[in-house]
Amino acid sequence: MLEIKNMTYEIQDNGQTRTILDDVSLQIEKGKILVITGPNGSGKSTLAKLLMGIIQPTKGQILLNGQDITALSVTERARSGMGYTFQQPPRFKGITVRKLLEIAAGEKLTEEACCNYLSEVGICAKDYLNREADTSLSGGEMKRIEIATQLIKHSEFTIFDEPEAGIDLWSFSMLVETFNRLKARGDRGLIIISHQERLIKMADDIMVLSDGKITKKGKADVVLNQLHCDKMTYSI
Ligand code: ADP
Ligand code: MG
Repeated sequence: MLEIKNMTYEIQDNGQTRTILDDVSLQIEKGKILVITGPNGSGKSTLAKLLMGIIQPTKGQILLNGQDITALSVTERARSGMGYTFQQPPRFKGITVRKLLEIAAGEKLTEEACCNYLSEVGICAKDYLNREADTSLSGGEMKRIEIATQLIKHSEFTIFDEPEAGIDLWSFSMLVETFNRLKARGDRGLIIISHQERLIKMADDIMVLSDGKITKKGKADVVLNQLHCDKMTYSI
């Protein structure tokens, strides 16, 4: 189980303290999907970065299977079983797509294995394996490659920050299938930050952030009804 307890994140902005996340608590079990949604600027990506250890909270704790991981670095968290994809993935000049996949796998991969992982996100491996993972790739291409690296890793909990961003409809459908398969295997917990109804509908639990605070949290069907009433979702 992954738990966040009373997490607050403050920044100093022109000499003033600004609260980006205010007393956020959540938990997710292995085999479940938690979708976090809410307006732009509500603190969703900040929460994802706090979970992965890219930034440190002002207050609060993160527990992974009961162990306090709040002070662990990104690398230590990755080793403990946490995975993460950025809303805007970084580029890697001089590193090929194949190399990125192999770094994620921790071993050499056959072309067939690379092809299997990339096809899960709608990419034809042969066209991409020897390309550099730099700015020559479009945002949607890099996004899908980054998601593929997380499919290779067997993290116990993986955070996907807006996996739909910049992805075409066809690839998005494949991604939904991939998430469904991951869920069916039941061996990892997925935290998906999204506004897309198709992803939101896959959730076991939904949490809505607004202005750094949790405004809704609970079982998916209940929260989904409330979201429909608030017209907060849209479909692709
Ligand atoms: P979301 O992912 O929900 O769109 P973010 O977590 O990216 O929102 O950002 C939440 C708010 O915090 C935004 O208003 C953003 O501008 C602000 N913010 C986040 N990090 C910083 C920072 N390092 N410095 C200043 N403002 C920040
Ligand atoms: Mg964001």
